[in-house]
Amino acid sequence: MIVCKFGGTSVQDAAAIGRLVEIVRDRLEERPLLVVSALAGVTDELLGIARLPSGSDEPASRIAALVRRHEEAARQLPGAEAALDDISSEAESLVRELAALAGRRITPREIDAIAARGELWSSRLITAALAGGDVPVEWVDVRPIMVTDDRFGRATPYVQVLNSRARQHLCPILECGVVPVTQGFIGATATGVPTTFGRGGSDFSASLLGAALRASRVEIWTDVDGLMTADPRVVPSAKTLAVASYEEAAELATFGARVLHPATAVPLVREGIPIIVLNSRRPDHPGTTIEPSAEVERLGDSPIRSISWKKGITVINIRAPRMLGAYGFLRQLFEIFERHEVVVDVLASSEVSVSLTIEDPSHLDLVRRELEDLGEIWIDEGRAIVAVVGIGLKTTPGLTARVFGAVKHTCVEVISQGASAINMTFIVQEADGPDVVRRLHQEFFGTC
Ligand code: ADP
Ligand code: ASP
Ligand code: MG
Repeated sequence: MIVCKFGGTSVQDAAAIGRLVEIVRDRLEERPLLVVSALAGVTDELLGIARLPSGSDEPASRIAALVRRHEEAARQLPGAEAALDDISSEAESLVRELAALAGRRITPREIDAIAARGELWSSRLITAALAGGDVPVEWVDVRPIMVTDDRFGRATPYVQVLNSRARQHLCPILECGVVPVTQGFIGATATGVPTTFGRGGSDFSASLLGAALRASRVEIWTDVDGLMTADPRVVPSAKTLAVASYEEAAELATFGARVLHPATAVPLVREGIPIIVLNSRRPDHPGTTIEPSAEVERLGDSPIRSISWKKGITVINIRAPRMLGAYGFLRQLFEIFERHEVVVDVLASSEVSVSLTIEDPSHLDLVRRELEDLGEIWIDEGRAIVAVVGIGLKTTPGLTARVFGAVKHTCVEVISQGASAINMTFIVQEADGPDVVRRLHQEFFGTC
């Protein structure tokens, strides 16, 4: 069997869903399982609605507009209107839930229950569209399968439970030659409370299910030709990588290549299941194959494979003269981040100072207060991480000089290389990010 995951833009309207139907029809013999995202923009809108001030009367009209989007798509797809009753009744229950929340602050648990609606609606619509196109299909609620802990907004799956539930629920459907259609991004606790994996989490759902069912491959259908030498929105001339390793894909995704969720490869490593990133607008394009033994192709003579960047980064600098020659300091430092569950991305340290970056500043004040006991703290907001990923980074003489020569007009703040043999990261002002990526692309790939 294979897993086919369709992202938001690949299900955004009737035309996109029509293309999906054809892609699935072409793969019926391979027994596909479909994992779908919400229609493009729907998760953003649901999160916007969840954050409205308590007592606002906007939710009902904004939810009605989301339902209309699904209705418009359904009207243009033969048979798809069959999904509309379910979508409307789920939307009505959402309006009631939101009304019941009036007068108090919304919790992460409630936000997840709201955000989960996008995938529930899209999967119903797509199931009906496939049925209308004579594809044998069955809608599957992923929540009893995808059992997670209760860290709402960034849940962790219980892999053994999900493996056995996935086999129990999905194998009988696949064995009958029927295509199960289920939701990405969402799961539920053991007691059935909805959770989510965080933004872009549908890729992770697809690979978890692919590993559970020992799929022969996981296809990630999106709006670009594959993993590219840079984000094509920043570098329009970026080229598609024919192959990449799990490690390269993970590094690129961690540092901003949104095309894949950073955890996508993790469940697939043990079985060595390949991921293929494909363009749903150009299904004949071979895309990028991500696999453990990826043969390195040379893109021209460049030792670099790709450049990514991520904005919205905060740099925390700690200067502590007592760190000099002392032991246990870094442990104390990281315990503070651990206590407040703050993820650190990039780290650089000297004799008496440490700089590190975080993406989510929601616990920054708490962290800062405790860090002040360790030394002098200063915080730089509005920064971006730039990551240069390539196989020969450590072994190619002069490479660092080329990287920093290419961006010599930019103020580079924190540099980190070494922990990973394939990645060099540095921090710049957020506004400089796109220009830095273009200059690096020009240096290593000759175009920008
Ligand atoms: P989906 O909705 O299919 O999950 P996403 O919007 O999450 O799609 O990811 C696709 C986008 O990722 C592309 O439109 C592209 O702008 C962006 N992107 C960023 N970096 C890269 C890269 N290195 N290669 C390909 N796409 C990239
Ligand atoms: N719909 C979710 C999001 O927009 C998950 C996904 O698309 O992967 O983040
Ligand atoms: Mg995505």
